[in-house]
Amino acid sequence: MILNKSQRINIMNNKESNRRDFIKTASMCGLGAGVLGTGGLTHYGIDAESFAKPPQNAKIRITDIKVAIIGNSPVVRIKTDAGIDGLGQGETTKPYLKSHIEYYNNFLIGEDPTNVERCLMKIRRAGSFKPWGTSVSIIETALWDIAGKAANLPVYKLMGGKIRDAIRCYNTATSNLVWKADRAGNTPKDWRDWAVKIKNQEPGFKIIKVGGGIHGGWTTTPQTGLYYDTMRSQSRSTVAQSRRGPLSGYGLNLTVEIVAAIKEGLGEGIDLALDLGPGYMLADAIRLSRALEPYSPLWLEDMLTGDYYPWVHADDYAELTRSTTCPIFTGEQIYSRHHFRELIEKNAIRVIGPDPADVGGIYEMKWIAEFADMHGIAIAPHGVFNGLIGLAAQVMLGACMPENFIAFEYPTPRETWWFDIIEGLPHPIVKNGLVEVWDKPGLGVKFNVTAAKQFLREEDKDFFD
Ligand SMILES: [Mg+2]
Repeated sequence: MILNKSQRINIMNNKESNRRDFIKTASMCGLGAGVLGTGGLTHYGIDAESFAKPPQNAKIRITDIKVAIIGNSPVVRIKTDAGIDGLGQGETTKPYLKSHIEYYNNFLIGEDPTNVERCLMKIRRAGSFKPWGTSVSIIETALWDIAGKAANLPVYKLMGGKIRDAIRCYNTATSNLVWKADRAGNTPKDWRDWAVKIKNQEPGFKIIKVGGGIHGGWTTTPQTGLYYDTMRSQSRSTVAQSRRGPLSGYGLNLTVEIVAAIKEGLGEGIDLALDLGPGYMLADAIRLSRALEPYSPLWLEDMLTGDYYPWVHADDYAELTRSTTCPIFTGEQIYSRHHFRELIEKNAIRVIGPDPADVGGIYEMKWIAEFADMHGIAIAPHGVFNGLIGLAAQVMLGACMPENFIAFEYPTPRETWWFDIIEGLPHPIVKNGLVEVWDKPGLGVKFNVTAAKQFLREEDKDFFD
């Protein structure tokens, strides 16, 4: 039984002094200890009982949130009692998230999955900066997949509709395991030769991103750049640690020389984005950015913070942005619109790059993109490790992104057999650097279950049941 409006107002007006009255009222209304056990009233107009209980009139309900580690990727499959399921996929670097994702079963069983925001209200607070935002994010995307299938509409139709027919994507050619090229070494000439090979590849990417500087290991030793190599004897895991420190003049000049060589190799018509940090001191980031201005990079990514840093430092980014004509970029590790608020309101950066599988999901991205657009800030979503389901999410999102959208980061799977187990993608996927938007319901991709089953781990054998 649900309390009436006057009972709720009485209780909210004086929670402590009315606590005994609440118990008495609840008792009179026939409510048992289960109501009190939900933690009391949450918000005016939403009493704890009705928020905790799934809606009574739902035509479709969540019955299970299943997770499998396929390849090395966490993949979520949300099942419903209507025979519709939804898919989401996180970065290939995060197999350890399986139990974190499964934990959300506690909150979402019985909920109507097409009430995406209501479901997110229950779980959003339990996410955080990368990697802990992935679980909420890919559940959100799987809910949209279900909502689209239930409405027989592609997901973009539920998020404002399509404003472009084809989505530009960019190739992080130093991470991509399909569209890549061999490189002899780390000299400027090696990089120029590499860039010549990259620019002639079949998908015709018009934007190439290079992981360089500290990020790419160009300048991480005393011999080549940083004055100290504090992580030399340890693993290079980007999750647990990263390098940072003062940049030598030699390291600065080497970085500029390599960038000049890459630009020469790419020639006209292809833009170069640079993921250089994080790890630069603010003063070094300013002088390096100024030194790179003649090469017109599309953006300089994560110079100060980024990757797995669980902080933002908006004021430092604002000073860097005001100090250079190079567009300054950050955002792949940031969770939720709230952590973008300061960056955007202070115009601390020129381009943001949230990852839909880290930030809280595709509609969270849409919200942040619109807010950034109102402040003259561009957006280029991160996502290189999000796999083919992550690619489908990017296409649905890109279709309805505002006009500040540049391109999304093209994800390629670690294993080529992914192309055999995911159905629904166009062939070829990328033409002239663009992916055409498809109109199938939901995300528009599904597993070939027979083919996919052979790649399930022993503990995940019931994933498709
Ligand atoms: Mg990055």
